[in-house]
Amino acid sequence: MRTLVLDNTYFPVRIVTWQKAMILLFTGRAEVLTEYSEKKIRSTTQTFNLPKTLRLFNRHRTSHKVKFSRQNVFWRDNFQCQYCFIKLPASKLTIDHVVPQSREGGTDWENVVACCPDCNVRKGSQLPNEANMPLKNPPRVPKWSPQICLRVKKEDPDDWNDWFPNKKVS
Ligand SMILES: [Zn+2]
Repeated sequence: MRTLVLDNTYFPVRIVTWQKAMILLFTGRAEVLTEYSEKKIRSTTQTFNLPKTLRLFNRHRTSHKVKFSRQNVFWRDNFQCQYCFIKLPASKLTIDHVVPQSREGGTDWENVVACCPDCNVRKGSQLPNEANMPLKNPPRVPKWSPQICLRVKKEDPDDWNDWFPNKKVS
């Protein structure tokens, strides 16, 4: 069981274990918005429903930007090699610098894509047009999305979607 945490503006900022959620509650830092009605925990004197959604009393200082990381590049690119379109698990994917690092290409959203090992070897230190390997999509800074930024799992409650600003993710 996990708990979605919103800031005081109702913006979803993170997902925590229910144990952490209870700490936020007991320390007076958050209020319950929705509960798991079927799940209860008992202390020696009280029974609580597990919180499904909490709202913090403070504004959470978050930039609402997607952190640049290898895993998030894979998410943005839908776990597909951006050259041959094959879909692979993260453990099999590599990242490719579109403009190679040896040619001053940066390590950032606009120059890094998911790439399968075969394409990575084939491309080597060439540019896409030199290798005759056009990109599927020009790499961009992704929009903040709860699915990417909060790592929503299949088993998490569907009604969390009500709090998500942009619900669709490819
Ligand atoms: Zn490939």
